[in-house]
Amino acid sequence: MAGTGVFSEIIEGEVYKYYADGEWKLSSSGKSVSIVNPTTRKTQYKVQACTQEEVNKVMETAKVAQKSWAKTPLWKRAELLHKAAAILKEHKAPIAEALVKEIAKPAKDAVTEVVRSGDLISYCAEEGVRLLGQGAFLVSDSFPGNERTKYCLTSKIPLGVVLAIPPFNYPVNLAVSKIGPALIAGNSLVLKPPTQGAVACLHMVHCFQLAGFPKGLISCITGKGSEIGDFLTMHPGVNCISFTGGDTGVAISKKAGMIPLQMELGGKDACIVLEDADLDLVAANIIKGGFSYSGQRCTAVKVILVIESVADSLVEKVKAKVAKLTVGPPEDDCDITPVVSESSANFIEGLVMDAKQKGATFCQEYKREGNLIWPLLLDHVRPDMRIAWEEPFGPVLPVIRIGSVEEGIHHCNASNFGLQGCVFTKDINKAMLISDAMETGTVQINSAPARGPDHFPFQGIKDSGIGSQGITNSINMMTKVKSTVINLPTPSYTMG
Ligand code: NAP
Repeated sequence: MAGTGVFSEIIEGEVYKYYADGEWKLSSSGKSVSIVNPTTRKTQYKVQACTQEEVNKVMETAKVAQKSWAKTPLWKRAELLHKAAAILKEHKAPIAEALVKEIAKPAKDAVTEVVRSGDLISYCAEEGVRLLGQGAFLVSDSFPGNERTKYCLTSKIPLGVVLAIPPFNYPVNLAVSKIGPALIAGNSLVLKPPTQGAVACLHMVHCFQLAGFPKGLISCITGKGSEIGDFLTMHPGVNCISFTGGDTGVAISKKAGMIPLQMELGGKDACIVLEDADLDLVAANIIKGGFSYSGQRCTAVKVILVIESVADSLVEKVKAKVAKLTVGPPEDDCDITPVVSESSANFIEGLVMDAKQKGATFCQEYKREGNLIWPLLLDHVRPDMRIAWEEPFGPVLPVIRIGSVEEGIHHCNASNFGLQGCVFTKDINKAMLISDAMETGTVQINSAPARGPDHFPFQGIKDSGIGSQGITNSINMMTKVKSTVINLPTPSYTMG
């Protein structure tokens, strides 16, 4: 159970502690932040509301800890990461329980998230020892006008203190996707978990403590992003920010100093369906891509662009599958569970009502109880409706009927977002042309968009992000190249 057994030291009374300088602490603010269970809509947990002074202290210790961590042999860093991964997997049950209560993640998916996170940490350790175990050797005589008098040795060095801010929907996985690369590369790490998902993150951080990481190397500051976020992201002690979330990331990128940023933001992933597509395959992928975790995934299918001649047939197939989705509490492992908050449910409802008023066809009756919204397919959506462009982050999915592939590509590219997209056709040549034409970080051919496997590059263009994730890219992003040049008094040619 969350907060018990090995985790009993991370909680005092009913409030979870924050983690700094190798210890679990109570904030001097004396204040806490409530985490509301999306299903019951009652306070489930409480976490510390950390102060600016506590952030300052964490940054100081992170800086000191990083200096000696950078001198820790790579194989030792990897060994500790493997240990943390094993401990995390061993304690998957209480962490998954927190995910169910904090973010209404279906029970099985919650366990999967923790296990996948352990695998991700191990992969970081393995990738890191290979990637960081080698550099480059350049000689000067390949550039015009030079003789072979200069030998340039390059290696990858850590950036310093990495600030990691994950979103609510994969709080553990998207935290370790930053923690693993940062630590193997020799950085220290300050985590600011999402409020919904903070308790799962605190448990995860404790697994790193149990693994024996040096004190101060990892810290976890809790509090509302709206209150503590700016202070953290603009803190002079931060040398890199890795953020995943919504528009907040765009604002952070404008405020942050001259430091590397990794931003994984929102998406409006389009699913383009051609006449020759296997409609059963498309329908299955629309269900998986559009409705898993109630559509609260950055890479969820968020708009279907289907050629008119096959639209009726596709809509019927999707409707039949929507009817089979189970709706209810995450504890029962239902397909559709309550969305994360009341404000999120209200926002989704706003998009749905706007579409209704402007003439969209509802394929199911719109139904909502509290934060629980029944899955809804909206047909005959037109570009003047908000849902054609905005990210609902809920189980509601618009269908736009298109007259040509060009119309579909145009809609996809007119979006402010450019995360992923997908195209369904049996003609691989057409698929490649469409993939090249879509202005998104990734295009999936004959499958729904997805982040992962976690070592695949993952990136968005336009308002969907800066930089690229995926384990290798993240390790590279959290390092900088350092060169040492050996200058010889006379040219020296190997075997010369
Ligand atoms: P969000 O509201 O942007 O919050 C993300 C994180 O930022 C949370 O930890 C939040 O803390 C924190 N935060 C809030 N205000 C802040 C500030 N001023 N400064 C610094 N941090 C601040 O996003 P969300 O609702 O959690 O997640 C949903 C969004 O994430 C969607 O748009 C989705 O598409 C996107 N997403 C993208 C990816 C990707 O890889 N591209 C993956 C998953 C999700 P609090 O919780 O305390 O407010």
